[in-house]
Amino acid sequence: MTAPLIDPFARAITYLRVSVTDRCDFRCVYCMSEHMQFLPKADLLTLEELDRLCSAFVEMGVEKLRITGGEPLVRRGIMTFFRAMSRHLASGALKELTLTTNGSQLAKHAAELADCGVRRVNVSLDTLDADKFARITRWGRLPQVLDGIAAATAAGLTVKINVVALKGVNEDELFGLTRWCADEGHDLTFIEVMPMGDLGEEDRLDQYWPLSDLRARLAERYTLTDLADRTGGPARYVRLAETGQRIGFITPLTHNFCESCNRVRLTCTGELYMCLGQEDRADLRAPLRASPEDAPLRSAIRAAITRKPKGHDFDYSRQTVHGQMSRHMSHTGG
Ligand code: SAM
Ligand code: SF4
Repeated sequence: MTAPLIDPFARAITYLRVSVTDRCDFRCVYCMSEHMQFLPKADLLTLEELDRLCSAFVEMGVEKLRITGGEPLVRRGIMTFFRAMSRHLASGALKELTLTTNGSQLAKHAAELADCGVRRVNVSLDTLDADKFARITRWGRLPQVLDGIAAATAAGLTVKINVVALKGVNEDELFGLTRWCADEGHDLTFIEVMPMGDLGEEDRLDQYWPLSDLRARLAERYTLTDLADRTGGPARYVRLAETGQRIGFITPLTHNFCESCNRVRLTCTGELYMCLGQEDRADLRAPLRASPEDAPLRSAIRAAITRKPKGHDFDYSRQTVHGQMSRHMSHTGG
């Protein structure tokens, strides 16, 4: 174990999110354009390189690893990677290995993920209406995702549902989704749309439904109590007295959560983003490929962490999109 990673604002970096592919079997309207240009496969880190990089972070104090994408479960051989990472759980260096998925391939992989030590999985699901689901995801089918969620539950995984709040799209399902999650025993988190990537015909401000408004509507039916819980992520939580369930809100736009940020993001090409909402990044693929020794890689990681900024600049408050990022969420890993 080497010295822990501490950034210039005294935040310990203990959480690494890794995008293992920019590809996906869906084309969600807020995430991708219909005709996405994907990276050439040769630019991607191999599974062995991903292993070396993640292992270096674990040696430097990262305790939580979230695998994301794109859709992580469409990357060929990805279960080999999960199996490899499980050795860090076994050694005790890693406390949590988890993933964020659209659920389409979960039915196939849930049991093996559980066997690799995964305990929780975040599944993105914005609607329970099959037609609407097809419209939002363009290529997805709702029954496949519901089967995936059922398989995950059957394998003993705790499922958290992530819902992107979309104005005029799933506003009418606020209570339906809440009720369904309560009945199925899933935690639920709402996310505000972030200005990531050019979507062609889609307009950000058209999609933006502030969670302050969503929360007020929830309070019309339920009694909300603020919770002090922090799960090492940006979500704030409330408890609904009537159902007992916990609901999270990720509000990058109405609430700035940067002060407690403990995370960095690695792309599938080996770029390290020290902040989701800033363009600065460090290339880790070059030091990784330059030497079979990890020393140059470790110094590149340390140098990158010294550049971690205080926070992001997303802001819709002037009715324009400020702080827009040119890259897509699927590139940095949501
Ligand atoms: N494909 C997986 C999935 O959908 O869960 C993992 C990657 S996806 C980029 C991760 C999360 O980012 C999803 O919950 C998705 O809804 C969310 N997301 C994508 N684009 C977003 C945006 N522009 N604003 C807010 N959330 C977004
Ligand atoms: Fe794919 Fe996830 Fe983006 Fe939807 S949100 S297009 S499932 S990466």
